[in-house]
Amino acid sequence: MSYLFKNISIITMDADKPKVILSDLLIEGSKISKIDNEIPKSAHKVIEGKNLLVMPGFINTHAHVSMSLLRGYGDDLELFKWLSDRIWPFESKLTKNDVYIGAKLGIAEMLLSGTTTFLDMYQDMEMVGKACQEAGIRCHISRGTIFTGVEKKDNEALIQLEELIDKFHDYDDGRIKVLAGPHAVYTNNTAFLKAQLEIANRRNIGINIHVSETKKENEDSLLIKGKTPIAYLEDIGVLDAPYVVAAHMVYLNDEDQEIAKNKKVGIAHNPKSNLKLGSGIANIQQYVNKGINVGIGTDGAASNNNMDMLSELQYASLLQKGLNLDATALNAYETLKMATIEGAKVLNISDSVGMLKEGYDADLIMFDMNQPHYYPIENSHISKIAYSAKSSDIVLTMVKGKPLMINRELKTIDLEKTYKEVSEIIERVYKKND
Ligand SMILES: [Zn+2]
Repeated sequence: MSYLFKNISIITMDADKPKVILSDLLIEGSKISKIDNEIPKSAHKVIEGKNLLVMPGFINTHAHVSMSLLRGYGDDLELFKWLSDRIWPFESKLTKNDVYIGAKLGIAEMLLSGTTTFLDMYQDMEMVGKACQEAGIRCHISRGTIFTGVEKKDNEALIQLEELIDKFHDYDDGRIKVLAGPHAVYTNNTAFLKAQLEIANRRNIGINIHVSETKKENEDSLLIKGKTPIAYLEDIGVLDAPYVVAAHMVYLNDEDQEIAKNKKVGIAHNPKSNLKLGSGIANIQQYVNKGINVGIGTDGAASNNNMDMLSELQYASLLQKGLNLDATALNAYETLKMATIEGAKVLNISDSVGMLKEGYDADLIMFDMNQPHYYPIENSHISKIAYSAKSSDIVLTMVKGKPLMINRELKTIDLEKTYKEVSEIIERVYKKND
């Protein structure tokens, strides 16, 4: 299939400085083949661009998509209590199929809010992989591990990671990738982390891990290991993996920031989850100034409570201004970069996604700007996306040239069926709780 957008506003995200062009854009197969004025109308489908804007799809660098099932269950608790009293007991009752249904629900929400790529960590990740295969979204999946001390169980987790790589890594020309996913330093011991590092190095995959999410995590790490979590990870060699995505990184001292920069650790910044769990506010502006690569993530829907990247990036920008008492902090364009091309860098795929550029994969979203909150239409579109837009304005979500959502309608997920399946799970799990 080919699609031609005529005279459409385009935020290409391929420049250091804000740039919006009015041009034609042609997609042939899975790629953007031409961005130019006056491309002849020979495509299968032509979209007239008046009052429409296209930009790269959002890249959600940290999610637990199946936790959509836990939305609204266990709010207003601090992280450790939230995990041990609510989340982990609930999760122990989930079947493989539940994880699949939860993933469908989360992917539906993401496609409707303009996310074209996400990095996920959970259990039973083959079910998340299956949901992604079917839904057409780009996803990177990591097998979340928590060291149990039960040899058989822990070995199984490592075998599952290898199986996940065999089955899904580089599926559909790289649309799906697999990473190792040690949950955190405090839930894994050194030997178990090194075992996952060995797999990452041997199979040439990345590592996805939660780091320095709370003050307590840092204090405990200093007490037990004499080092901050990121310094400890450097010490045991984890940061020498092919690439590392560190989620949260709220509490980084100057040395920690140096480590992140030197070891090219990609940070997944989750402003809303960090606020909601009372974890704190990462000084992202400081990290960016130092040249550390930062993307944006939503975390799971149980700690946010949605997976809406537009809402997330708007929080990210406003928070940095308030935190730094500086209206110039994390400006509109910097924030959009974090949600697109910088996120692609964090996930190690910036050579094919994250920008609208000839030869790049056609992962894009389209906004309908014919609404009061986009007027005056003459003013900066970058500002409007960063500060005024709502995800319900997105009328097209496309991954690798395939439209997965058109005019708010999903093409690969049956929403009504998914809602019904979700309700059946909740009814069953709650009954077990009684
Ligand atoms: Zn997380």
